[in-house]
Amino acid sequence: MKIIGVIGAGQMGAGIAQVSAASAYQVLLGDIGLEQAEKGKAGIAKQLNRLVDKEKITAPQRDEILARITPVADHAAFAPADLVIEAATEREDIKRKIFESVGQHLSDSAILASNTSSIPITRLAQAAPDAARFMGVHFFNPVPVMGLIELIRGLATSDDTLAKVQDYGRSLGKEIVLANDAPGFIVNRILMPMLNEACFALGEGVANVTDIDTAVRLGLNHPMGPLTLADFIGLDTCLEITRVLHEGTGDPKFRPAPLLVKYVEAGWYGRKTGRGFYDYSGEAPVPTR
Ligand code: NAD
Repeated sequence: MKIIGVIGAGQMGAGIAQVSAASAYQVLLGDIGLEQAEKGKAGIAKQLNRLVDKEKITAPQRDEILARITPVADHAAFAPADLVIEAATEREDIKRKIFESVGQHLSDSAILASNTSSIPITRLAQAAPDAARFMGVHFFNPVPVMGLIELIRGLATSDDTLAKVQDYGRSLGKEIVLANDAPGFIVNRILMPMLNEACFALGEGVANVTDIDTAVRLGLNHPMGPLTLADFIGLDTCLEITRVLHEGTGDPKFRPAPLLVKYVEAGWYGRKTGRGFYDYSGEAPVPTR
């Protein structure tokens, strides 16, 4: 594998592009248009500049990594890719349209993968040209820092596809775990009910934002509180995943907290929009409740 395509240049797509380019892959980076793809690359440049400042990489290494990332304007540009990873917004309709469209341009050996946090891989594979060459590749945020990738086989994913994607994941220096195609896979099946419960607790007045986060951070020894983490992931993404868990299992224990729904309806998606459970407009995040 030499050429990796990444569709969706948001926080995850940019991270996947960065780590792939840092591991010597050529990367084609797309989004809804060239402007957004270029914005994604500019974000990667910023991240790499920070690494140069911290002396983790040299300026020439930064330039080499950036030179391997090419923002592209349309799906035809992904034709030379060996592996295309979709990391667009967590909505099934959006992802299906991407697979149907980009699938028309890929070679007969190319692998298509989704970084979906929760949508069933077997179902998404129906929109790909070949379900045997389709699977889930679930990275964690921030991609350059987090050491794990969950790989998810759809019912029709071939052994060859799995082996190739495993090799790609390991070449990035990540640990690989295999999850079955069940809603939320491993990590989100366990994480999202906790984040959702923190939203219930806040909405029901159990405690304020600071105390919920402090309680979990110090009482459970987590590196950050659940509301900080939800803001970091994106409240829209958290809500989508929780809905998939709810619909996918039919179990009422996964129903989304009304406060989480309200925040998303308000456009308060967390860090990426400047406001979620914290306000990010100043120097340091300020709790909002
Ligand atoms: P994000 O909102 O930061 O980025 C999504 C990007 O997709 C945006 O740049 C948007 O312009 C682009 N996009 C939307 N429609 C598109 C289309 N039709 N074609 C191409 N690009 C399109 O979201 P994110 O956090 O990067 O999440 C992306 C995916 O990664 C989702 O499936 C999410 O569930 C998954 N994921 C997120 C996290 C996390 O912690 N945020 C972790 C693992 C997986």
